[in-house]
Amino acid sequence: ANEEAAARAAAATADTGGPTIFDKIVSKEIPSSVVYEDDKVLAFRDINPQAPVHVLVIPKVRDGLTGLSKAEPRHAEILGQLLYAAKVVAEKEGLANGYRVVINDGAEGCQSVYHLHLHVLGGRQLKWPPG
Ligand code: C5P
Repeated sequence: ANEEAAARAAAATADTGGPTIFDKIVSKEIPSSVVYEDDKVLAFRDINPQAPVHVLVIPKVRDGLTGLSKAEPRHAEILGQLLYAAKVVAEKEGLANGYRVVINDGAEGCQSVYHLHLHVLGGRQLKWPPG
């Protein structure tokens, strides 16, 4: 029964390759609190924050990057841009005492939205290891 429940949970968040809620956030069809934006990257506040600062950094165009595990050599530049944007966000948010950048991948990584995103978390003492 536990295995069944786990399989159902994983299926509920499977990588279908279809559009996600983040497409509507990029197109501004769904409003979000934007923290940083350039031509390639959008950073906005998570609706369910896990820390005083919790910002998601995403590529505006997904281009097959449903998750980090789908990265190809052609994605190397955008991956670098996302990580650099995470640093800019942390600075803008005043996280001078430290912060964490997280990418959840796949069912066991607790990924729920299949459009690559970096979580920038900070503003409190974080614990290690994460759950
Ligand atoms: O890494 P994971 O896929 O679980 O993260 C998805 C994140 O997207 C969650 O932290 C969730 O709160 C956030 N989210 C959001 N706005 C939405 C849907 C999800 O900020 N409309």
